[in-house]
Amino acid sequence: MAAFVSVPAGHLRPLRLSTAVSRRPLPGTAAAAPNGASPRAPRRRAAAAGIGMVTTPKPGSPSAAASPAPPSAAASVAAAAAAAVAAMPPTDSSQLYDVVVIGGGPAGLSLSAGLGERGLRTLVLDASLDTPWPNNYGVWLDELEALGLGDCTSAVWPDAVAYVRADGAPSALNRVYVRLDRHALKRRLLARCRASGAVTVVQAAAADVDVSPGTHSVVTYRDVAPATEGGADPDTPPGRPRMVGPVRSARGAVVADATGHALRFVEMEGAPAGGDGPSSLDLRGYQAAYGIEAVVEAHPYAPGQMVLMDYRDDHMQGSAAERTESATVPTFLYAMPTAPTRVFFEETSLIAAPAVPFEDLKRRLYARLAHDGITVTEVLDEEFCLIPMGGPLPVRQQRVVAFGGAAALVHPATGYMVARALELADEAAGHIAGELAAAKAKAAASLPAGGDPDGELEVDADAVASGVWEALWSVGRRKQRDFFNFGGEYLRRLDLPTIRDFFSAFFRLPRQQWAEFLSFRLLRPGERLAFGLGVFFRTTNRVRATITPFGMFHGRGKLLMSLLPLYPVDVPPPVKLPPLPEEGA
Ligand SMILES: Cc1cc2nc3c(=O)[nH]c(=O)nc-3n(C[C@H](O)[C@H](O)[C@H](O)COP(=O)(O)OP(=O)(O)OC[C@H]3O[C@@H](n4cnc5c(N)ncnc54)[C@H](O)[C@@H]3O)c2cc1C
Repeated sequence: MAAFVSVPAGHLRPLRLSTAVSRRPLPGTAAAAPNGASPRAPRRRAAAAGIGMVTTPKPGSPSAAASPAPPSAAASVAAAAAAAVAAMPPTDSSQLYDVVVIGGGPAGLSLSAGLGERGLRTLVLDASLDTPWPNNYGVWLDELEALGLGDCTSAVWPDAVAYVRADGAPSALNRVYVRLDRHALKRRLLARCRASGAVTVVQAAAADVDVSPGTHSVVTYRDVAPATEGGADPDTPPGRPRMVGPVRSARGAVVADATGHALRFVEMEGAPAGGDGPSSLDLRGYQAAYGIEAVVEAHPYAPGQMVLMDYRDDHMQGSAAERTESATVPTFLYAMPTAPTRVFFEETSLIAAPAVPFEDLKRRLYARLAHDGITVTEVLDEEFCLIPMGGPLPVRQQRVVAFGGAAALVHPATGYMVARALELADEAAGHIAGELAAAKAKAAASLPAGGDPDGELEVDADAVASGVWEALWSVGRRKQRDFFNFGGEYLRRLDLPTIRDFFSAFFRLPRQQWAEFLSFRLLRPGERLAFGLGVFFRTTNRVRATITPFGMFHGRGKLLMSLLPLYPVDVPPPVKLPPLPEEGA
């Protein structure tokens, strides 16, 4: 059987989203703009609608209000936001902030907390500050514990399993999976920002960044009405922030884009400004998933069990067309039971280009649940997830720095990022603080005799940004990403039997090794080589026969360089795994 997938022509139709989602075509679909960005004036980055996800409460469901979260969680996030806003004086356009952070998702708020704790005057603009983050984040408990956030979970599954074997048997992963308590984390990060006494947070949408002044950048923004008032304006499309008041501006020595995957203010290597012409962004794959938070009559999962990936496809054997569809466009189920009658199900395409349409994922999910005898009695929320995977890195010589999805920090082969962003936030804040301190010292030293040492120092804003970019995307991290990118590129071309063979070998690696792949370790080239050989020797000829030519013809120089120890690397602490059952006994 041919192992590489040729995508059926009918599969190329554009994605359609529910009306609550952006009405623009999505990147990764036939009708999308090449890089999802709107035309921009020279030396300016203008905001554009983009991709990400929306959690859409089902009409008529108990949670079909403004937010999918229970009212108490939504209210507590709104209260934390209001407290953080009230803690600092109103913004003043004449003030020069050390850093203006655009976006208050996990990346933006964790970065801002780190900046504030270093005493940097920081302004955070977030369009949805007073509402809970929409995404359901799954992470490994050991990742949170390493960050001192082990208690920041809303569900814990000691028994994570994967169905990736050809015989359909489960593989026990022996690593504890959790659902991040996104409301608690947002409250905690806002509290850290407030406690620092240096972070001003504003519910506002940034529209433009002017990088023409040499010593700072100017962010133009407008305030956003509180979520509770958002639906009142007939001119505002659903799901979009309702802007109020005049256009305002803020000056920052550094501006950090933390607006997620839409690449609103950052430029990527090989992506033409303004989105005209062929773009390196077209090379990205997409993880697409359709999820439901469901009430069920019953489910088959053991207590404490969740399913990380279920690649079985018995539900797709009814016709030749179904069998072909399943074999050529592999998708898996991700299932997180939180009670005997409540489960979050998500049918996921790990990586594909173009993205697998949500309607196909939804159809497959319901077919699977019906086959497994799971009766959904109520859908509380729907999740439409679209994550760009791999593709180019940000240009490192650009004024606007970025963090999180905007900095391409997502794992190119898995789509995970949140634990990594939380881990790197403090380091990134340290780099910004260090580069700014050095630039200020230089500017102070060059003050003319009699110059005001307490006045505004004229730092070289381009040099500061470039130093931050070089540190965030150090050569070691770039090579690591090339390796993960190769993995993502390979996986996206596989048919179902081959992808099962691959993951079957993957989860038979020593647990430390696959865990370090998933958790952004394998920083040393030798570790990556050992990982690759480990999969190669454990897997089937079907995988070997495809990955070898793919490595030679597609991976080539980048893959080779990622495996050669020719550059310095900063190695983070290893992943600290829980004891295996026999070790713990
Ligand atoms: C549906 C979904 C599920 C995911 N699940 C997981 C998971 O389980 N585990 C994992 O590790 N990763 C997951 N990811 C990947 C990644 O971790 C998330 O995308 C994560 O939310 C990215 O964080 P961020 O802070 O960079 O961006 P976002 O979370 O997207 O936050 C961006 C913020 O910027 C604000 N903003 C946007 N534009 C403007 C503007 N112009 N002005 C002001 N504010 C603006 C937004 O309101 C938002 O608050 C998921 C991604 C998606 C889309």
